[in-house]
Amino acid sequence: MKNIPVWQDNLKSKNYPSLKENIDVDVLIIGGGITGCNTFYQFKDTNLKVALVEKNKIGMGCSSRSSAKITFLQENIYTKLKNTFDRGASFLYYKSQKEAIRVINDIIKKENIDCDLKKVKSCLYTIDSNNIYKIKKEGELLKSFGEKVENIKTLPSGVEVVDGISVSDTFLFHPLKYMIEIVKKSITDNNKVYEDTNIIKIERVGNSFKCYTKTNIINAKYVILSLHYPYFLIPYLMPLKCYIEKSYLGLIESKTKDDFSAINIEKPLISLRKSDNQLLIVSESRNLAFASNNSVMVDNFYNNTNISNYDYLWSNHDLITFDRLPLIGFIDDNLLLATGYNTWGNSNGIIASVIVKDLVLGKDNKYKKIFDPRRCFNKGKIINYPINLFSNIYSFISSKINKNKSYYDGNPYFTKKDGKNIAIYKDDDGTEHIVYNKCPHLKCSLVFNKIEKTWDCPCHGSRFDIDGKCIIGPSNYDITYK
Ligand SMILES: Cc1cc2nc3c(=O)[nH]c(=O)nc-3n(C[C@H](O)[C@H](O)[C@H](O)COP(=O)(O)OP(=O)(O)OC[C@H]3O[C@@H](n4cnc5c(N)ncnc54)[C@H](O)[C@@H]3O)c2cc1C
Repeated sequence: MKNIPVWQDNLKSKNYPSLKENIDVDVLIIGGGITGCNTFYQFKDTNLKVALVEKNKIGMGCSSRSSAKITFLQENIYTKLKNTFDRGASFLYYKSQKEAIRVINDIIKKENIDCDLKKVKSCLYTIDSNNIYKIKKEGELLKSFGEKVENIKTLPSGVEVVDGISVSDTFLFHPLKYMIEIVKKSITDNNKVYEDTNIIKIERVGNSFKCYTKTNIINAKYVILSLHYPYFLIPYLMPLKCYIEKSYLGLIESKTKDDFSAINIEKPLISLRKSDNQLLIVSESRNLAFASNNSVMVDNFYNNTNISNYDYLWSNHDLITFDRLPLIGFIDDNLLLATGYNTWGNSNGIIASVIVKDLVLGKDNKYKKIFDPRRCFNKGKIINYPINLFSNIYSFISSKINKNKSYYDGNPYFTKKDGKNIAIYKDDDGTEHIVYNKCPHLKCSLVFNKIEKTWDCPCHGSRFDIDGKCIIGPSNYDITYK
């Protein structure tokens, strides 16, 4: 079994140079995931000078760890939005997802991008008769939006369910192939990409910004933060706007005939994606604060899915906002944010790219109000604030108490060198890998993920490889022992 995302297996991006000089740009896009790559594309035909900077390699963050569906059927999101806001907001979100699907299809066709795009049915189902009313409500709401909705009792794989609905015009794709290609197609004299370029500080100077790497400065009139969990946003209270949810994904060979996408409405989550003889399953979703024991999570994953012989098994996490709407738009003068996709970043990352381009160009956009990251309190937020505060404090304290967790069985082991906490992991060859055991972001103690051989931060999701290089998350520094 491979413990890497199937999308990252044997696929490497073209290498782009790192930034080696100071530069001036009109727009700086920080973060080359689905949001940053699409945003880079959107600015291609403007006269603006644009730089996309990525601290690792293009596309290797959360976007190439997902289940790679492009769908507007997202559990019962429309019912939830109608309850938290009103029917109008719910309808507008639906329109945004439909528009995103149209935009990505147009781009793929226009740019002739080979990314295994496939049109499939998406299903929402239940195996619990107590949840039939939820399915019915979501179906009725979608029908009232003008969507064609079918009632189903069987998934396209032939599995019977208690109740379900299905919609068409939804898609599957290969996210890393898409991101690599779209960036390649966006490079012009005015549009430049820099990899291995980590922005560690942003400083406002009047209406512009100085953005610092370790060695250089980028002067930018506009900055777009497409970096998933923004490190710089402590003043904007990110931890109070959303929490992080972690899940496991497994891929196994499947010979059932039809390709499809499906998700259930109950707990535990079971999300299915069948394409080209491969069945991808997502399950065992938890608030990151309660997801630090990866071995237990994987055992639960096997139990939930009733399968134990996966060919690939990996984890991913995403930001969940309290009102279930993404955070897209200005957070300050000339500073824009695009994140908080509630595990639906393929469509939301695309619509975000369209919105931020309009905002930078001074155009109106019909979604700017509902996605405004500065939107104020609503029912969804008020109820969830205390829960989130508790989970943030809980994860910090439990990381401190449990840092020598008994389930490690002595490997890795923890000790002190030069007064600093370090952790030593011995691999199968007996080679020792030594790291500092503190997340550089907010100093939470890290947890060793034995399945994927990574060091994971239980507080805000930073992840480091076995030798301490930061591969995901808000941390701007590595934990490599020097
Ligand atoms: C289990 C699971 C399954 C999912 N399945 C789906 C699905 O089927 N369909 C769907 O639509 N969505 C899905 N999602 C959600 C989706 O994966 C995310 O919403 C999306 O990938 C987020 O994209 P992003 O561009 O914001 O972040 P990322 O892809 O993480 O990109 C951010 C980039 O910013 C870079 N970066 C960070 N800090 C800096 C810095 N200081 N300087 C320079 N670069 C920086 C990072 O290295 C990274 O490459 C799923 C999520 C999970 C958890």
